[in-house]
Amino acid sequence: MNAHLVIAIDGPAGAGKSVFGAALARALQSLCIDSGIVYRAVTWIALAHGLDPEDDATLSPVASSMNLQIVPPTVQDGRQFTILIDSQDVTWGLRTPEIDRTVSRPSALPGVRRAVTEQLRHLARDTRVVMVGRDIGTVVLPDADVKFYVTANPETRARRRADELQARGQEADVADILRSIIERDTRDSGRATAPLRPAHDAVHLETDNLTIDAEVAFALDVVQRSLRSTTTLETKDV
Ligand code: C5P
Repeated sequence: MNAHLVIAIDGPAGAGKSVFGAALARALQSLCIDSGIVYRAVTWIALAHGLDPEDDATLSPVASSMNLQIVPPTVQDGRQFTILIDSQDVTWGLRTPEIDRTVSRPSALPGVRRAVTEQLRHLARDTRVVMVGRDIGTVVLPDADVKFYVTANPETRARRRADELQARGQEADVADILRSIIERDTRDSGRATAPLRPAHDAVHLETDNLTIDAEVAFALDVVQRSLRSTTTLETKDV
């Protein structure tokens, strides 16, 4: 067992990274860190307190000092975990269309990114980890053992987001979601600091026609081969 196995997963909005990351982490008995939650939390605080989502001087101290906790699910409503900001349950509050529309603005700020990157590296230190985001393989963990770049076509991604919202009883217009996803990808890949792009050594994974089991099986094979014969990979059924 490789104690410090580090897996980076990046890709655009709605590509299925989080579900894939969580399933792969379960199979590898690793910690899974979804870095989008941290950027969403900064955005949630900015909106809740009427702060300018593009003011780096105001938001970078928020990013480094906010009281964000991710704990086992406290309610059985389809969530994988419960997210708290100052003890308030914001699990679904971080997933609203308003946050989706706004999040790429604080995420483009260099000071916010510095603060978040530092915390993510700290969390990943000395542990087996699968980390999911936009710049994990390129900036946060450039020495990751294996990097995946997960994509799906925009229509598939919009449909998945709509299904997610509808499953929670919310209205969802696929055309609106598609517009919002394309806008977010354009901002995330066009920003000057840590833009969304595949690491040069990332393995590309297109999820349009794959089941989650097939994605995990493919990924485990890649991980096993990248570790070569030096280590035996112990995995768990998911
Ligand atoms: O992955 P998720 O959709 O939750 O990410 C929300 C937003 O957080 C992204 O659109 C992006 O603006 C930002 N993000 C980022 N870098 C990361 C993870 C997320 O800029 N590593």
